[in-house]
Amino acid sequence: MMLGMAKASQEEDEESLAQRVLRIFGKEALRPGQEKIIRFAVEGKSALGILPTGHGKSLCYQAAAVMREGMSVVVSPLLALMREQVNHLRRLGIIAHRYDSSLEATERGKLLAEIAGGGVKLLYVAPESLENEALLKSLRSQAVVLSLFVVDEAHCLSQWGHSFRPDYLKLPTWLRQHPFACTLAFTATATPRVRADLQRAFHIPDGRVVSISPYRRNIQRLVRCTSDPLADLLLFLREEDHRHLPAIIYTRTRKNAEELTATLTAAGLDALCYHAGLSQDAREKIQDDFLANRRSILVATIAFGMGIDKPDVRSVVHVNLPSSPESYLQESGRAGRDGLPCTSLLYLSGGDRTLARNRLYAAEPDFEGILRCARMLLPAEPDVVSFWELSTQCDVSEDVPQRLLDTLCRMRAVRIICQGYKFYKARPLLSASTIMNGRCAKEKKRLEWLFEHREGEVAQAASDWRCTYPQALEQLRECEASGEWGLQLRQRALCIAPGKGNADAREVAAGLRSAYEERLRLDLEKLSCLEDILCSHACLNDSMERYLTGKGLPAPCGHCSACLGQAITLPESSNEPLPSFEETDLPHFDRPSQRARFLIGFCSPALLFRRLYSHPLFGIAGRTEWKMLCGENTDAKQSKAD
Ligand SMILES: [Zn+2]
Repeated sequence: MMLGMAKASQEEDEESLAQRVLRIFGKEALRPGQEKIIRFAVEGKSALGILPTGHGKSLCYQAAAVMREGMSVVVSPLLALMREQVNHLRRLGIIAHRYDSSLEATERGKLLAEIAGGGVKLLYVAPESLENEALLKSLRSQAVVLSLFVVDEAHCLSQWGHSFRPDYLKLPTWLRQHPFACTLAFTATATPRVRADLQRAFHIPDGRVVSISPYRRNIQRLVRCTSDPLADLLLFLREEDHRHLPAIIYTRTRKNAEELTATLTAAGLDALCYHAGLSQDAREKIQDDFLANRRSILVATIAFGMGIDKPDVRSVVHVNLPSSPESYLQESGRAGRDGLPCTSLLYLSGGDRTLARNRLYAAEPDFEGILRCARMLLPAEPDVVSFWELSTQCDVSEDVPQRLLDTLCRMRAVRIICQGYKFYKARPLLSASTIMNGRCAKEKKRLEWLFEHREGEVAQAASDWRCTYPQALEQLRECEASGEWGLQLRQRALCIAPGKGNADAREVAAGLRSAYEERLRLDLEKLSCLEDILCSHACLNDSMERYLTGKGLPAPCGHCSACLGQAITLPESSNEPLPSFEETDLPHFDRPSQRARFLIGFCSPALLFRRLYSHPLFGIAGRTEWKMLCGENTDAKQSKAD
């Protein structure tokens, strides 16, 4: 053998590392790239893993965390996934926990003590929980050795990513204050721009980016443009030996999903419908039926699929255009996890091109909504605000109040007094006389009040008890801790107060609005990119690879629409005229954009709250151009301009 000693011992060492991982986690082999990432982390070097969905990123950080001394923290926005992983790790005998808002007070106290005692190996947290004072205190405990900091779904940090989350932006700053040994960041897809952002944010050199090509040769990618997609879809699903089943069919809206399920069922197919509007129980039942192959077709909105692992899905069908190349790849990638041949089929139409753009416009908060929200976040005296309430009242997504508050706090125009809840519900567990026994007059008065007002707003309790909101919250928690009362707190809220700085609501709103405009521009660009890829005469897999990694495939795939000579021409956007209806039949809206959202069938927070999705005119104009729906291009306006 020509191997030198050093090389030989290194190889032995590598073998033992891999073997140890396989033994602890009960696996047979590691996938490409996994060992490299684990090794970086074990050596205390930060790394970025760009691993396609299903490639086993969690094994990388779990293994590294187990092999290192101390506690590792995993930041993930996916609550369901966290729960599943924690259970899995515990079955392996690894001490793992998750910290989030759903924990009961007693559970939380116990967990914080366990963390502070240094007994936890892996802790899963949602990004917003990293600001929780009690959690931070336990992390700072002497007994805690901070090992790995793991950022799951790391693309959320980049403006260029496909699901930007402002709370991810705070992670690098947070990390500077909490010295972990190293950082592991993971994402399934990262275009060159996203990758650069992540490397910069977490100080990861080029040599420590482990990237696995997203190309999956077992997926045949087909794109079709036909006048009767439904007839075509029925043929596809019924093809010889049902070789395309089990199938997942993605639609854009709940209504589409319900209608298509009904049509398929009427045609004698075995279809189930899944969307976020169903109850938790119903969704679990549907998932179980599909996972166990009791039903062969699942018609779903994109709410389905996060963290679901069904290896034998034989086809994924998009009846509507996905919003970006990344989402197309992620959704279609749920086919053929077992490595066996499968199909991704996508239908493209001119009407759908308009609809896809409309939905991007609709998702963008308008200036009036942002301004209203900014004003509500600048109270003259301490106030309790809930993001849900702000979002519903101002009809903007919940990240608007979140981002406004970040800005206002930075300007010192607002300060956060404490985090809490909007509503309480108290239930006496003992008789009134037992609870009242031996109390001073002041306490008695307060408890009598609580017996009379068992449900309500925490702020009301504070006002009637003549104390501050944090004090009222504390009192309620003490009632629970005494074991005399059962307590439920609901709707997360913040107690805020005016700060020393000044802020002009209009200016702040305008600043945020332009950030959203920039995002919209990027989203529209991505959508066009996807359309170009889907309709190109060059290999579809090669184009996707180029878009996602900056490098193409060594050779065309040979089995996509383009390689088979079946590439389609991009259809013209339909931009249909506004259907006729009586204006008086429409619900009342304060702002033109709200009316437009209703007409295209977009569920904004206020629309959802008013349950307008069941209105007969909801979504009647999905294929009419957004500008026309907002009245920006109407005859009346034009004649004014003349
Ligand atoms: Zn190809």
